[in-house]
Amino acid sequence: MNVLVSACLMGFGCRYDGGVRRLSCLDALGERHVLIPVCPEVMGGLPTPRPPSEIRDGRVITRDGRDVTQAFLRGAQEAARLAQACGCGCALLKERSPSCGLGQVYDGTFTGTLTDGDGLCARLLVGRGLRVIGESQVEELLASREEKSI
Ligand code: SF4
Repeated sequence: MNVLVSACLMGFGCRYDGGVRRLSCLDALGERHVLIPVCPEVMGGLPTPRPPSEIRDGRVITRDGRDVTQAFLRGAQEAARLAQACGCGCALLKERSPSCGLGQVYDGTFTGTLTDGDGLCARLLVGRGLRVIGESQVEELLASREEKSI
């Protein structure tokens, strides 16, 4: 199966602070599926490093108060376009991110507090009918018996 993956989970240094969150099982996952990295924030035109952002009242705001919603939306659309072009059957995304988070995101106060909600990219992908899972559910993909595709 072709799987869209948050690029930071694949070892790309695209997090806001330039860091990575490489999956320990990445090699095993790559043996089973074709992994297609995306970073919606970079694809939306934002630099790395960049100020941290959180969702507040439906907008994405940096810690220093800048509204970056348009860049987040642009990146989400690019990621969705790539998922469709590549025929992805699933997206494996970084949890809690204002782009990639699914089910829970930080609440906009920059205090480390979580609230229910999705990142903008995760929300768009779900809305387009793609199966989206967070990295804590990666075992589901490792257990999948679907053949690799291109
Ligand atoms: Fe990772 Fe997604 Fe944030 Fe990019 S936007 S750094 S892929 S969590």
